[in-house]
Amino acid sequence: MSEKIFSEIIVETILSVPFQENGYLIYQLGNQDCLIVDPGFEPEKIIERVKNKGLNPVAILVTHGHADHIAGIDALRTVWNNCKIYIGEEEKEKLIDAEQNLSAPFGFAITVAPADVLLRDGDKLDLAGISIEVRHVPGHSKGHVVYFLRTNSKPILFTGDVIFKQSIGRNDFPDGNPAIQIEAIRSQILSLPDETIIYAGHGQTTTVGTERQTNPYL
Ligand SMILES: [Zn+2]
Repeated sequence: MSEKIFSEIIVETILSVPFQENGYLIYQLGNQDCLIVDPGFEPEKIIERVKNKGLNPVAILVTHGHADHIAGIDALRTVWNNCKIYIGEEEKEKLIDAEQNLSAPFGFAITVAPADVLLRDGDKLDLAGISIEVRHVPGHSKGHVVYFLRTNSKPILFTGDVIFKQSIGRNDFPDGNPAIQIEAIRSQILSLPDETIIYAGHGQTTTVGTERQTNPYL
């Protein structure tokens, strides 16, 4: 687990080992409410962290519905049953369909609770005292969204499986599309300020400027 402080907004990475998937805990200093991005396997790690901090999750922000990004949702909801699930509107079926979320094809079928809030490109959210812009970035998964946070310091972007440090997400799943993916990354992510910090669904953090200059897939 690592911890980074940007003005008042804190982002903690909580690694889920089975798929090396990054879940994130986000909160503002002085505010008890918090947000959780992509709770995967091993949700007990997230629950312990949140409880130790004395925080109250108000939203689970899902980038996309693949199993390794949603598997922990129900465990969190068992503890905090008012915590709402946010996901792109074209992605909602994956929460409740083990074929679509790829768990069944991988041999461990899971489903979780249905979405509470369906998101569209350009939606603005105000949660836990934090302002968030939703951007639709299809290509890895048709309803994939990323979450952009302006802060008093560097902006922050949670990219799920769209873009990684020096790589991009797979685009060979049934609802993936390589051409759409590259176009969406260019228009929706590379258009953001260079200093924007990318918190990806797998691997290390990077920045928009670094990926614009060095990502071999772009
Ligand atoms: Zn994925």
